[in-house]
Amino acid sequence: MKALQFSGNSQAALVDLESGPLQAGWARVRVHYNSVCGSDLALYAGNWHGHRYPIVPGHEWSGTVVEVNGPGEHWVGRRVIGDLIHACRICPPCRDGLPVMCQSLTELGFTVNGGCAEYVDVPIENLYALPDELDLATACQVEPLAVALHSVARAGIQPGERVAVLGCGGIGLLIIQAAQCAGATVALATDPIEFRQGAALAVGANQASGADAAAYEQLSHERFDVVFEASGAPQSVAQALDLLRPGGRVISVGYRVGASHPIETAKLPLLYASLIGVMGPGGKYREAISLLARGAVDTKPLLTDFVTLEGHEAALARAVGKKPGTIRVVFDLMEGGSRG
Ligand SMILES: [Zn+2]
Ligand SMILES: [Zn+2]
Repeated sequence: MKALQFSGNSQAALVDLESGPLQAGWARVRVHYNSVCGSDLALYAGNWHGHRYPIVPGHEWSGTVVEVNGPGEHWVGRRVIGDLIHACRICPPCRDGLPVMCQSLTELGFTVNGGCAEYVDVPIENLYALPDELDLATACQVEPLAVALHSVARAGIQPGERVAVLGCGGIGLLIIQAAQCAGATVALATDPIEFRQGAALAVGANQASGADAAAYEQLSHERFDVVFEASGAPQSVAQALDLLRPGGRVISVGYRVGASHPIETAKLPLLYASLIGVMGPGGKYREAISLLARGAVDTKPLLTDFVTLEGHEAALARAVGKKPGTIRVVFDLMEGGSRG
């Protein structure tokens, strides 16, 4: 089967891989779409925690089950997405309800091959069936929307709260919408790229701004109940604290491994602030599927570049360079591929 393979150091290649025998308790899925998120770009660059090379990336995929090994025949032919996290369920973090912190975590697309291929193997227990009204192109955003919903849940958003979202890439644009679904007003979104500011306004932010020092100077009077940091820019947590009302919460979702920036730590007690980290989709898959199936979240402004695996080089360059017009690259694994 055709697959995209990363080897670190910004090395990517289209390869022909043997699928091999299906593990007991796993399903094989014919992938239709797989979108590329910021973590995939960090994996591509070789700057990621928890990975092995070479690896087929991809955890934001949708497709159709073609085979199962074990009980679960009814899955064959179902349109599905799947959780990337396969945890042991017995280690202390798993027992504490934090499978994403599992001490022997398997992550599809990071530690085992993921969805940037014609087929992906997935534990049957990780599968989620899709309702008829949800198309597969939209469904590849279930996982990132689950991350956004998890972030909003960690923030404990109350209806009527005013929030800001720093960073208007795929996750930021989904957080803007997830926060509104929870009853918040997204009063501000920031991003250095004008095209992304426009996308933030299109999905309901009241105001969009740049993210440089001059832009923040202009915002110096603004205060928010919750500030979501979704850019991963190391200075952004400090900027988030500057935008917080006393007693507010900063939710840190974006990150770059190894990057740092000083913060004035006195601001945490002086603002009575909460600084909260979020990792992963937090199991919010059913909620994400339901919101997308109802059309309550619009993925069109995010899904900008549909390409075949053959077009990976130019597409990855656009995504890494954050070219205007590009937010999320989506690989179409049925277009130009063998259909099986
Ligand atoms: Zn992702
Ligand atoms: Zn575990």
